Amino acid sequence: MAKGMLIDLTRCIGCRGCQAACKQWNNLPAEMTYNWGSYENPPRRSARTWTTVTFHEMAESDRFAWVFAKRQCMHCEEPACTAACIVGALRKTSEGPVVYDDRRCMGCRYCMMACPFGVPTFEWDKPVPYIRKCTLCADRLAEGMDPACAKACPTGAIRFGDRETLLEEARARVQAHPDKYVDHIYGEKEAGGTSILYLSSVPFDKLGFPALEPRPMPRYAEVAMASVPPTIVVVSVAMGGIYWVIKRRERMREETEVPQEPERARIREED
Ligand code: SF4
Ligand code: SF4
Ligand code: SF4
Repeated sequence: MAKGMLIDLTRCIGCRGCQAACKQWNNLPAEMTYNWGSYENPPRRSARTWTTVTFHEMAESDRFAWVFAKRQCMHCEEPACTAACIVGALRKTSEGPVVYDDRRCMGCRYCMMACPFGVPTFEWDKPVPYIRKCTLCADRLAEGMDPACAKACPTGAIRFGDRETLLEEARARVQAHPDKYVDHIYGEKEAGGTSILYLSSVPFDKLGFPALEPRPMPRYAEVAMASVPPTIVVVSVAMGGIYWVIKRRERMREETEVPQEPERARIREED
């Protein structure tokens, strides 16, 4: 059965344990931790930060509250990024994660243009740049472990499991506490549905979540690709060139690659 995550924003305390766990498991370096005038830390997702927790100040007539929102790849049911990738470097697996094979990537960045959630990021500062994004910890799932962020969350704001079961649970929570939740499970229908589902106490547009129709995402990929017709024509004609680019990037990567630290072995033991 396809897996997913239910992120209940009413349970999130903004501790960013999920963000730290993601960096630790994926061996991602730290980024700037203080941004003048902003509580966001780091301020946006990047090739080094695959998940962020945004802080939202909600002032109502008689009360004041913070709402925290963990954001990452939505692992769409019908992803626009996979539809836009003409060399098949991005792929939706039957288990749920949308995974990326950098050996196939030619660096065109169509996936970045196509994604309606603005998720894929590019390693702009690297000599051989690749696309980076949350993998739903597909490597951990293959070893029978839960995603690192879900495991780290101290309040149970992130639940990992079968998408259908999580949907039922989300509906039950809304039904049991209509005073606490808005009547909307974000990700149930947006852009054809996503593996990541959200519950919130405030409307999602107030938290910066895009309002998307229930039509599947590949339509967005068509729109994105149609906006760059000359490039598409050139790329389609030059498939031989694409192969050459991929092979060259692979060779350059082998020359510049830094070996991974043995950190994962320790985390596995703790898990
Ligand atoms: S379209 Fe965007 S949000 Fe959806 S799976 Fe691809 S990168 Fe993730
Ligand atoms: S699922 Fe894994 S890769 Fe995605 S945000 Fe969580 S820890 Fe990071
Ligand atoms: S670990 Fe849980 S409570 Fe802490 S910021 Fe992440 S989602 Fe929120």
